Amino acid sequence: LGMPAPPDRAPVRRRSRKLMVGDVPVGGDAPVSVQTMTTTRTADIDATLQQIAEVTAAGCDLVRVAVPTGDDAAALPTIARRSALPVIADIHFQPKYVFAALDAGCAAVRVNPGNIKRFDDKVGDIARAAAQTGTPIRIGVNAGSLDQRLLRKHGGATPAALAESALWEASLFEEHGFRDLKIAVKHHDPLTMIAANRILAARCDYPLHLGVTEAGPAFQGSIKSAVAFGILLGEGIGDTLRVSLSTDPVEQVKAGCHILASLGLRRRKLEVVSCPGCGRLQVDIHKLANQVEAAFDGFPRPLRIAVMGCVVNGPGEAREADLGVSCGNGKGQIFRHGEVLRTVPESKIVEALLDEALALAEADDAE
Ligand code: SF4
Repeated sequence: LGMPAPPDRAPVRRRSRKLMVGDVPVGGDAPVSVQTMTTTRTADIDATLQQIAEVTAAGCDLVRVAVPTGDDAAALPTIARRSALPVIADIHFQPKYVFAALDAGCAAVRVNPGNIKRFDDKVGDIARAAAQTGTPIRIGVNAGSLDQRLLRKHGGATPAALAESALWEASLFEEHGFRDLKIAVKHHDPLTMIAANRILAARCDYPLHLGVTEAGPAFQGSIKSAVAFGILLGEGIGDTLRVSLSTDPVEQVKAGCHILASLGLRRRKLEVVSCPGCGRLQVDIHKLANQVEAAFDGFPRPLRIAVMGCVVNGPGEAREADLGVSCGNGKGQIFRHGEVLRTVPESKIVEALLDEALALAEADDAE
């Protein structure tokens, strides 16, 4: 079931050093991982674990939780133990929470060494503690956290300024012999973010975490992220990613999985190949495509389903798909690998596709 991407179309990856974030490898030849951040208060353990379960089901590989207070830090041992995904603690200013996260068994810690050095220089202590627990550290910058010195030097948050800032942060750990680092350089402008990551890819071998920060609401943000990630991953740059959207984290994870699947870097679970509609349309195609997508959400096998608004492209398009339907005269012709199976009334199309998908899965199991 499902169509894997032809291998000759998969991009050649930049070879970065490989780290283990819990049991998930990041970098090297590891698959590009999808991550997100919970939006619950981390101290609310049940709500946070519930959200982690939801993003896990959506295909997330790594999850980050914010640790702005002592209560959040105190919740980390339970969350790290009970989460199905490796948990990354996100800490901006307080070194003591970094030590708490390492003690709690978090799989990685995200810190801002620039802030830590400026306010309370514990970078060396953090490097030693992280080396002892074998915990990787993610560092990085975005336009908002860029050092004033670099802003002045480069005349703004330019790609060169962002890359230099990230490499300077890495050097703060390298001074202490710590190189288990992952770098993220984010910007709200995809072109700036792309250029900064290209510089980093050329100048270091650390795994790169891709993100367009403050990408926006779902529609705009998904497009900005897809453009930026598509260009970079197409050049083999990027080891893990987060689609930052002003939405539920589940939607961010789905967007990340779709981007990877579009590049042949992740097997797609469900692909609805629906036509855009035109003057030949004989059904409400937008409604039908959404109904099919909702009905197959969580279907346990990868599946490509063609939903066509008339018979012109139906059988041809449906041949490429596991299942398909082409509509006309209030009816739907159901196809399997381009072969007509039966015709059903429009109201029974989704049900018929579900029946055929189950039959296909059963036949697959019997093989
Ligand atoms: Fe138009 Fe038919 Fe093509 Fe849909 S499948 S875009 S309705 S010609």
